[in-house]
Amino acid sequence: PRYSIIRGVPYDRPLTSMAAFRMCPACQREYDDPADRRFHAQPNACAVCGPSYRLIVDGQEAAGDPLAAARRIVADGGILAVKGIGGYHLACDARSEAAVTRLRQRKRREAKALAVMAGSMETVRGLCTVSDEEERWLTSPAAPIVLLARRTDARDAAAEAVAPGNAYLGVLLPYAPVHLLLLAEDDLWVMTSANLSGEPIIYEDEVAVRGLAGIADAILVHNREIVHRVDDSVLRMTAGGRQIVRRSRGFAPTPLALPLGRETAVLAGGAELKNTFCLTRGREAFLSEHIGDLVEHAVLRSYEETIAHYEHFFEVRPALLAADLHPAYLSTQYMRARAAREGLPLVSVQHHHAHIAAVLAEHDVRERVLGVALDGTGYGADGASWGGEFLAADMADYERLAHFAYIPLPGGDRAAKEPWRLALRVLHTMYGEEIALRAPKFMEEIPAGWQLLVQATAAGVNAPLTSSAGRLFDAAAALLGICRENVYEGQAAIGLELCARRAWRAGVVLPYRMNCASVPMAVDFLPVLCALADGAERLTAEERAGRALDFHVTMAAAVAEMLDILATRTGLRTAALSGGVFQNALLLENLLTRLGDFRVLLPHNAPPNDGGIAYGQAAVVLARME
Ligand code: FE
Repeated sequence: PRYSIIRGVPYDRPLTSMAAFRMCPACQREYDDPADRRFHAQPNACAVCGPSYRLIVDGQEAAGDPLAAARRIVADGGILAVKGIGGYHLACDARSEAAVTRLRQRKRREAKALAVMAGSMETVRGLCTVSDEEERWLTSPAAPIVLLARRTDARDAAAEAVAPGNAYLGVLLPYAPVHLLLLAEDDLWVMTSANLSGEPIIYEDEVAVRGLAGIADAILVHNREIVHRVDDSVLRMTAGGRQIVRRSRGFAPTPLALPLGRETAVLAGGAELKNTFCLTRGREAFLSEHIGDLVEHAVLRSYEETIAHYEHFFEVRPALLAADLHPAYLSTQYMRARAAREGLPLVSVQHHHAHIAAVLAEHDVRERVLGVALDGTGYGADGASWGGEFLAADMADYERLAHFAYIPLPGGDRAAKEPWRLALRVLHTMYGEEIALRAPKFMEEIPAGWQLLVQATAAGVNAPLTSSAGRLFDAAAALLGICRENVYEGQAAIGLELCARRAWRAGVVLPYRMNCASVPMAVDFLPVLCALADGAERLTAEERAGRALDFHVTMAAAVAEMLDILATRTGLRTAALSGGVFQNALLLENLLTRLGDFRVLLPHNAPPNDGGIAYGQAAVVLARME
């Protein structure tokens, strides 16, 4: 909470947005008394002298108790915007199908799961299974959203529209006083960041009143300015321990440790999507809060502002800049412009090396390890799109020993949004001219003009190569008819995992091809995709789930086999695993059972997805200086 009100250092009331509130005599007495627990508590306030709430309906302040009126709106199925600590949330009754559906329609968010806030641990237990460790995180001061497995015998149910078809639910407990006042113990509310699609969470009152007018039936505002927006953090417990999916409120800007202390401060720009940046000071790495997808103009502005703020706040002027190898990333362009403007050296760091270096930095491992980086995409040293990489790496350098075999992306970037493009390529390879006969349902569902796409891909036109593991998940999901279009990033992979979890039988390893003669070596998954696709249109739901499971098991087996080969060749027995694909808990679980001979390192403090890239970039640059 402190971070959200602070304008500068030192942390004294005049430099916070509490400066606008003058303490009443009673609060002042507490603040001045060394024996009082509120002694020198900078934001000390009470109902007499502190911030207050108002309820805005149709642009007008509603009369009466704003909290009681807000509760009534939610109870009646309405949608409420609530100003909290780091920004605005949209809330509604999570047990009301109609309310949640309305919220989705108004927010234009069709598919992605929504987080829910439960009034008590008891209410959480009615919905989900909760381990001791998950409970500790839910009730911790950081109070993140914790992804929990839904109970199949749920005594209580969230509306299906909260997380359609999903086996997990993102749950958090009240973490601000206003939440405690709003939610009764058995309440269950959707509590999702209020933003206009793709933009950062809304935190300014005027923007909220203007921007949320068509979405919320009422807006509960307080009159304390939020200086910095902060999103809710998201984490989950996996077979490999804690995984931070989004690192924000409660975690950032608390520094992560760096194994290499340096006088020289480094500013690392991070990736482009799920962006965070990282500023170093000695052995501290200030990995920023989740900034978001820089392709949105408002997010890019927030990126630049937050960098400036961190430099001011931590009193650090970077002397060295680091950026991703991708020339078109907006973070790279920002760093380039800055390097030119300020005459600073700029170091480019390969994306998957950064993923692995982040894990090494976190575990303070200085030696070479085998790194497996599986994600959607990252710019490769050969200009191709990488994403299924086996590296021998230490913090300073890497060697690419193996990767998933290159496949063309029909239509380039659009193939990531439209997995059917990848599936079409596989089916055409299998059936050629007979494709319409052999996969009639698939062919009916895809747009006309597909012949052109097949021809262009065969000719290498607008069909860049990728070794991405993420795209293999996409292709598998599309071939099994689970997801042909990604409305949000990772949707196909999430769908495939959920389908696999419904399997009744054990998974089997499908045949893949290992090309050990090439340098680097390659794992070819085309035979796996063909096996999935074969007769897929006639499968029962149960058989389909079995095949989805087979895909996961096969991916785990292939990674484990490659690691064994590489361990024999290099003598390295430590494996660092990172990249967004490892957010797939089923894959991770299965892989870990196969890596008994290895010391396995996983990211726990920084996200495995691109939210951890900046931390890795900083580690690489500092290690190279050594
Ligand atoms: Fe990545």
